[in-house]
Amino acid sequence: MRAAYFTEYQGPINVENVDDPTPSNDGVVIKVGATGLCRSDWHGWMGHDSDVQLPHVPGHEFAGTVVAVGNGISSWKEGDRVTVPFVSGCGHCPECHSGNHQVCDNQFQPGFTHWGSFAEYVAIDYADTNLIGLPDDMDFATAASLGCRFATSFRGVIDQGKVSAGQIVAVHGAGGVGLSAIMIAAAAGAYVVAVDIDDSKLEFAKELGANATLNATTISDIPTAIKDITRGGAHVSVDALGSAQTSFNSVSCLRKRGKHIQIGLMTGDHAHAKVPMDRIVAHELEILGSHGMQAFRYQDMLDMIMTGKLAPQKLIGDRVTLSEGATALMNMDSFTSTGVTVINRFSA
Ligand SMILES: [Zn+2]
Ligand SMILES: [Zn+2]
Repeated sequence: MRAAYFTEYQGPINVENVDDPTPSNDGVVIKVGATGLCRSDWHGWMGHDSDVQLPHVPGHEFAGTVVAVGNGISSWKEGDRVTVPFVSGCGHCPECHSGNHQVCDNQFQPGFTHWGSFAEYVAIDYADTNLIGLPDDMDFATAASLGCRFATSFRGVIDQGKVSAGQIVAVHGAGGVGLSAIMIAAAAGAYVVAVDIDDSKLEFAKELGANATLNATTISDIPTAIKDITRGGAHVSVDALGSAQTSFNSVSCLRKRGKHIQIGLMTGDHAHAKVPMDRIVAHELEILGSHGMQAFRYQDMLDMIMTGKLAPQKLIGDRVTLSEGATALMNMDSFTSTGVTVINRFSA
């Protein structure tokens, strides 16, 4: 098969022919129909993720068709159209038994712990626990866009934040995660304040449901600005970027008993960012993370998409070939595009 492949961190990502994968006993092989480009792939290529072993094929948000099943698979067959969460739970550890596959002790992560979906085929373990059947009329590019940023935002806003109609939600950062969180919070009936440093992204945020926008390059005190326009602060605030500044702002803009949701990954110098712990005590704030979403929770999200309450397809930007996607991944840090880039052609 053709796969985008690298043999050293920060080295060239070349499209080459490699052996086709075969399914493990509890796994399947999926012919990739579409796969999204995500900043986590870039972190893996940079060498920031200790799960990534060389040589490596990136890619973790994808959808496609089952083409081979392992001997132990009972729920899936060739021809099924599917996607998987980027964190696939083993199904038999204490976390999975408690229904929290997103923090499984033995995670299978395509594109991190195993070769990923920047390829014609990808092998997935624990398939009975994690495969999600797609509605017939959902195209692969839309389904691919759910696997990481959209699902993690759905869990963050709906399951962790428990956002309800009439609440105020602040979203810090309007990239893929942030735009997803804005759309989901707006669909839940919240008043949404979006913060970014790029006016074009804030314009897009408005199209997706943001009620107010703030540009952090022109407003020095974002928490106070949010408290002013919301008369007291956000009930739920999301750091969708993952930085010391945005996480601090997110906690600081909450009203009493508010919830901060950390979705943006905190790496490098940002890993142990400063937190206003005094405010957490005095205002009884809650600090929560969101790390993917269990396969069994996808149905509610798919229902909201099929009834038109959510439209993840609006987040899709460029549709590119495998080799164009490999180039875009290497340049991800220097080039910011609006929306999610999706690879949907694998023969070029
Ligand atoms: Zn597990
Ligand atoms: Zn991702």
